[in-house]
Amino acid sequence: MSNLDSLPKYGQYINGAEVPPASGEYFPTENPYSGEAWALIGRGGKADADAAVAAAHAAFEQGEWPSLTASQRGKLMRKLADLIVANAEHLAEIERRDNGKLAAEVVAQVKYLGDYFHYYAGLADKIESHVIPTDKKGVFCYTKYEAKGVVVIITPWNSPLTLTSWKLAPALAAGCTVVIKPSEFTSASAIEFAKLFAQAGFPPGVVNVVTGFGHEVGAPLVEHPDTAHIGFTGGEIAGQKIYEAAARGLKTVTLELGGKSPNIVFDDADLDQAVKGIVSGVFAASGQTCQAGSRLLVQESIHDEVVRRLVEFVSTAKIGDPSQLDTQVGPIATRPQFDKIMSYIQIAKDEGAKCVLGGKSRPDLGAGQFVEPTIFTGVNNKMRIAQEEVFGPVLCVIPFKDEEDAVRIGNDVLYGLAGAVWTKSLHRAMYVTDKLKAGTVWVNNYRATSFTSPFGGYKRSGIGRESGADAIKEYLETKCVWISTDLDVPNPFIRR
Ligand code: NAD
Repeated sequence: MSNLDSLPKYGQYINGAEVPPASGEYFPTENPYSGEAWALIGRGGKADADAAVAAAHAAFEQGEWPSLTASQRGKLMRKLADLIVANAEHLAEIERRDNGKLAAEVVAQVKYLGDYFHYYAGLADKIESHVIPTDKKGVFCYTKYEAKGVVVIITPWNSPLTLTSWKLAPALAAGCTVVIKPSEFTSASAIEFAKLFAQAGFPPGVVNVVTGFGHEVGAPLVEHPDTAHIGFTGGEIAGQKIYEAAARGLKTVTLELGGKSPNIVFDDADLDQAVKGIVSGVFAASGQTCQAGSRLLVQESIHDEVVRRLVEFVSTAKIGDPSQLDTQVGPIATRPQFDKIMSYIQIAKDEGAKCVLGGKSRPDLGAGQFVEPTIFTGVNNKMRIAQEEVFGPVLCVIPFKDEEDAVRIGNDVLYGLAGAVWTKSLHRAMYVTDKLKAGTVWVNNYRATSFTSPFGGYKRSGIGRESGADAIKEYLETKCVWISTDLDVPNPFIRR
């Protein structure tokens, strides 16, 4: 540990201050490109979770935060949005160091979070109540939307601050307070992010961060009696555990659990556009995205031509150091994820799929945590490579006959996060869009997402929606108020 002692240390961020973890223990966080530890992260546990929830609960119940008007909350969020943009290079550099995201992409991704906070800042004072014209005489009846309370935000390593902000911005606009539990692989950016809230003028305790391992510090947050809602993005296994624990406490959840999304290309599609969409759909971020279009469904008559074009295009991709602006494919974010992807490549080969591009790691690059962009043909939809989420740069190509066949194969998975259809026919586009059981369907594009538009999954891809105006409702309770204007309170002992 001696050479690690010189590394910067990140503690927990509780009640407006960075504090050491109660255990006094830290663990290293590594740069996936170099394989070197670059910082130490506090190993939080139940005591830290309890302290963070106590701070968030106190900030929710009393003091400045609950006394702010919704417009004042919005003003604070706008200040924060500007601070995010001003600090985007610094935050992006931390994310790149922690998960190997491309420098070329990550700065823009962090800057865009400013727009997220501006959008929800604008919504904060537009949560309007309804007056209800009831069938009862002599009463005035209306609804009121109130913040749920302390929200727990649990995130994975692939887009740490983005996936945090998808939950945090609507939660704050609603008036909730939060405790964030980032992935143990990418915790540093959340601590730096939390410090911006103090600069923006948020009262202490409104935003807290605890770091460490899921079962040690994440689970106590979910189980804590004073947390009201859990917003989670990550893998299915952790998602199920969190859902079960939340159910025991009768808490609400939003879960975003990944997918195996079909990218469907018909024979009348503009293939130049489609090929770009296929490549960005599955190879961006080295395939480590929940909405990856990892199943390419191609109409039989153009199968060979599409595969030829893909192989030609993807072969030119520059793999390497994510800090270099011309790098197009970076490392895999974590060693377990690298091992998982390589094991799926072997599974595909064992199942009889044909590897027409890639299929190997690159031990010669950095610390060797690279997987070549990989394309399998000869895949049928029953194979594990077609059914299970790889979360890496691995595309499987499946031929189909016609619209019905495309829809049948497209829906024949347990997931339902996203899908796309490439065609010049409006009829085909509408037919497939209607039939696909997925939370997002793109027509002649892939990957467009925005703070303005809901995102989430059907089936095992999750529960609830993030982004868009309705996302704020996940963080609100509805209260119905009955005021007597001229109601004669009935005597319960006299039958009417
Ligand atoms: P994970 O689901 O294990 O962890 C995600 C977050 O949940 C982390 O912060 C983790 O500490 C926390 N966590 C884990 N168990 C918990 C528990 N019992 N209680 C509370 N918190 C808990 O994800 P991972 O290990 O980072 O990746 C596993 C797989 O998940 C990947 O291989 C990939 O397939 C998938 N994944 C999906 C997404 C997505 O966007 N949907 C993102 C990353 C990973």
